[in-house]
Amino acid sequence: MPLPQGQVFFYMGGFFLLALDLYQFYIEYYNIFSEIKFFPKAVISFMKAHQDYLSGTRPRFLGHALEEEELAAAIMARKAALGRELLILTHHYQRPEIVALGDYRGDSFGLSQKAAANREARHIVFCGVHFMAESAAILAQPHQTVQIPDPQAGCLMADMVALEAVELAWEELAQVIDPAGLVPLAYMNSEAALKAFCGSRGGLVCTSANAGQALAWGLRRGERVFFFPDQHLGRNTGCRLGLAPEEMVVWDPEAPLGGNRPEALRRARLILWDGHCHVHTRFQVEHVLAMRQAYPDARVVVHPECTAPVVDLADASGSTGFIVNYVRQAPPGATIIIGTEINLVHRLAMTYPDRRVLDLAYSLCPNMFRITLDKLLAALEQPGERHVVTVSEEVRDHARIALQRMLDLKP
Ligand code: SF4
Repeated sequence: MPLPQGQVFFYMGGFFLLALDLYQFYIEYYNIFSEIKFFPKAVISFMKAHQDYLSGTRPRFLGHALEEEELAAAIMARKAALGRELLILTHHYQRPEIVALGDYRGDSFGLSQKAAANREARHIVFCGVHFMAESAAILAQPHQTVQIPDPQAGCLMADMVALEAVELAWEELAQVIDPAGLVPLAYMNSEAALKAFCGSRGGLVCTSANAGQALAWGLRRGERVFFFPDQHLGRNTGCRLGLAPEEMVVWDPEAPLGGNRPEALRRARLILWDGHCHVHTRFQVEHVLAMRQAYPDARVVVHPECTAPVVDLADASGSTGFIVNYVRQAPPGATIIIGTEINLVHRLAMTYPDRRVLDLAYSLCPNMFRITLDKLLAALEQPGERHVVTVSEEVRDHARIALQRMLDLKP
């Protein structure tokens, strides 16, 4: 029996919406699909052109696209023309072709130090994700501009916390503990408004390179620390400083009192926002066990955004800068298994061919991967104009205090 006309339209509408959702997903992650060989080149090219259009980059369709070498040559020419007026900062997780063209590469701490120290460049182009470029803009001098080649390069972890939610949590906490003894500590991976929140309440910012010093600073200054948004970095750092499990609680922003009993909050020395990085929580205990079995002599090093059981099983854990040094200092012939973003692991394997550098599992940050040669070239073609990252004066002043406290921490 044929379906009534209304139902046919209903199903057709549903099918259309599903197709639209799928297409939007492909557009968002076309760069991952482009790694999959069976996707036709024309489809990838079309998706890329559409994503470029959405992000405001001039689309270059198949046949008109510049080859990688041509793009690199054009970027080199722009660099030569701009000379010392230009500074390109690249994060360790960037694509190899981007890192090769940067003036400095590093982790978010190293790059923020570079951004703060440089007075010469008028144009800073930040090849990383948005919160990093925003931090550089906060630390930059009035005559400097900071650009990000793709403003849509965000961070899913940073999106897990917003100023309004932290302000609400702070008010709720004030009902059971004395807020005068509570020190806010924002992970670098957060929006500028949260850094400003910390700066205006006697707190500071940290990266994974200095989380231990920052947390110790906070615990000396107050009775307890409110850390956001990465609960795993917070917990791993708290454990390192000798905090007991019952001294650390997780704050669920959806639940009353963050899902905690008042006594638990009064006992806590570290309150952890319920956020995480999906790139690093992808690494599981099973991955470590399987790799240890396959490579019994290997050393396992992971990023502290991994879960505590993974960090506990590893031989070492630390920031991306720490991981780079770990591989550099390993003797030739050593096998090192790394639990962090795949672009860094691949680059370390290529940089140290006399060591066996393997990934704990394939894990790619799609936001870091959004920065491409053509977007970098587009930024350099309009220095100081295209995708300039700005922060309001009030936010910048308070956020700078919190960032400066971090930069002043003693190693
Ligand atoms: S690796 Fe994780 S924390 Fe870093 S930018 Fe990507 S999603 Fe954010």
